[in-house]
Amino acid sequence: MQLRYPTKLTFEEYATARAWQDARLDACPICPTGQCRPEGHGTYMRKMPAVAYVARFRCLTTGTTIGMLPDFYASRMPGTLSDLEEAVARAEAAPSVEAAANELRPDDAEPAVTLPTAVRWVRLRLAMVRSTLATVRGLLPELLECCVVTVRSFRERLGVGCALMALREICERHLHQLPAPLGLVPPPESGRLRWKRDQQSSGPDPPPAKA
Ligand SMILES: [Zn+2]
Repeated sequence: MQLRYPTKLTFEEYATARAWQDARLDACPICPTGQCRPEGHGTYMRKMPAVAYVARFRCLTTGTTIGMLPDFYASRMPGTLSDLEEAVARAEAAPSVEAAANELRPDDAEPAVTLPTAVRWVRLRLAMVRSTLATVRGLLPELLECCVVTVRSFRERLGVGCALMALREICERHLHQLPAPLGLVPPPESGRLRWKRDQQSSGPDPPPAKA
């Protein structure tokens, strides 16, 4: 599962400071308060926009690994929320998706990216971000009812340069229900069930490690 690693750092600042080393997790997000203290479980690597790491912890009761995703990263896809959002903002401002694709020619796709590939790349990101903004507007009508479902409208309303990164904080309690790239991987049901079962049985086996 993933938890938010709240940070105002940019990707560059995080990578330079090796800030994944500062991530702390004192309370287990799966087990009842005070009954489980997760142990450090190394890091995993993300390659985009350049190599950096995400701190991991592990719940000893359920064997679940917990990634501490800093606010600038998109979840379950490569890259940062701000790069993703900027591509969508430019597509919104362009006369057509084709024109935006031609201009963007995403460099995280293949080096010699063709126009049809770039168009698919832009369409996918437009759809993901619009669907995220629409969902979030529904969750927070008091704040966002006046917005249209565009990056520009959300940035203006929130007064920020990256709406998605701001929404990580604003929507914190909904993150495990929201889809990627804003939402975070929720705790596994099986982890919760195993925890319950272990509580009920007298001598549970040690939980298996899980990547
Ligand atoms: Zn735990």
